[in-house]
Amino acid sequence: MSNTDWSRRSRARVWHPCTQMKDHERLPLVPVARAEGVWLEDFEGKRYLDAISSWWTNLFGHRHPHIVARLKAQLEELDHVLLAGFTHAPVVTLSEKLCALAPKGLTRCFYADNGSSAVEVALKMSFHYWRNVGKPEKRRFIALANSYHGETLGALAVGGAGLYRDTYEPLLMQPIHVPSPDCHDRAPGEAWEDYSLRQFQHMERALEQHAHEVCAVIVEPLVQAAAGMRMYHPAYLKRLREACTRHGVHLIADEIAVGFGRTGRMFACEWSGISPDLMCLSKGLTGGTLPLAVTLATEAIYEAFYDEYQAGKAFLHSHSYTGNPLACAAALATLEIFGQRDWMAQNRQLGHLMWMGVSELSRHPHVAEIRQQGMILAIELARNVARRTPYPAAERRGLRVYQHALQKGVLLRPLGNVVYFMPPYVISPEEIGLLARVVIEGVQHTTRDG
Ligand SMILES: *Cc1c(COP(=O)(O)O)cnc(C)c1O
Repeated sequence: MSNTDWSRRSRARVWHPCTQMKDHERLPLVPVARAEGVWLEDFEGKRYLDAISSWWTNLFGHRHPHIVARLKAQLEELDHVLLAGFTHAPVVTLSEKLCALAPKGLTRCFYADNGSSAVEVALKMSFHYWRNVGKPEKRRFIALANSYHGETLGALAVGGAGLYRDTYEPLLMQPIHVPSPDCHDRAPGEAWEDYSLRQFQHMERALEQHAHEVCAVIVEPLVQAAAGMRMYHPAYLKRLREACTRHGVHLIADEIAVGFGRTGRMFACEWSGISPDLMCLSKGLTGGTLPLAVTLATEAIYEAFYDEYQAGKAFLHSHSYTGNPLACAAALATLEIFGQRDWMAQNRQLGHLMWMGVSELSRHPHVAEIRQQGMILAIELARNVARRTPYPAAERRGLRVYQHALQKGVLLRPLGNVVYFMPPYVISPEEIGLLARVVIEGVQHTTRDG
């Protein structure tokens, strides 16, 4: 079977995610036959460098031998069992390790099978906590503009990105949206820290006005990923932690995209030295092999649910595949790989190479900004940099970069006008060189008509 055959059959029956299917009348699908390390390969032997870690999931390359071996071994023992009334070794060991690794104070693990569900769990848990402690009037959430927390209705409601949200507005609960500390909007010459702290006044005011009716503030620590890898200073989180405690509001850290070393520390919260009350993890949790998500909670939250059954305080939330043993085994294998060497030190070097590779673009007339946090590097394109005029979304400049890169054997998938790298940690310096060349050409190609 050729690429064309698989594409045709896919288009006839598969409704692809986050896609206007009509685009595929012109834009070929890429059928992937196999993958290894940072490379994907189609049915005709053409290879693509997976520069975005297959939607930010992959950490150590595709089919990492250690994860493959652990998964095979687990498959010989136990495939799946329900997690209510039953337990199993992978979920116990994984929970112990996650609590040891996570910011201090997170002592309980509740599992789901995708990031959006982990966010739903966090929102419901926070709301339910306040009910259980006699404050049912706390039933709203504070979220940041430009945030993304997933696609299910609760997670979508606390998201702040219009592209995904606006259509479903009539179905959504109404959170309190606060302007973002996103440093792309800082004044010329203003330091990141100053801008993020200046933006904190909006959060402080929202908390002052609404704390009595608010369960939690939910944020993506340091990088608002889906909004275009928009970044802010750790000082904001520190201030936020302090204010949440002062106002009696939970802090939910959605580390689904930034967790597991993407920002240069195991969890992005570590840059601020803070512990959230609830933390959501998914994506990199299994090294990019199987769907799994977890919401970690503090002992104080857990205890508010712990009572006689008749008290009606239990968290009666579940998903069929909660804590799936295979996925937990993959997650354990992933954590073992983290223990094999100092990946963060290695990533600092790789991150530096990524920066050097594209730094000449900082002088490009249509590059508004290059920003980086650890292994995430983003290039923001604009029509007019001085006047800060973005390219209209309808021009789909990012799509042109995508198509150009595909031709050259690189998988990039820009977010609107933002081209970014978020590669697996096993990318080589030579592969970073290829990536940088393709991106520079791609940006030139995409912006040559102004
Ligand atoms: C991807 C993502 C989600 C949603 O996770 P899914 O597994 O796609 O449902 C939530 N929050 C953040 C920050 C994400 O990047």
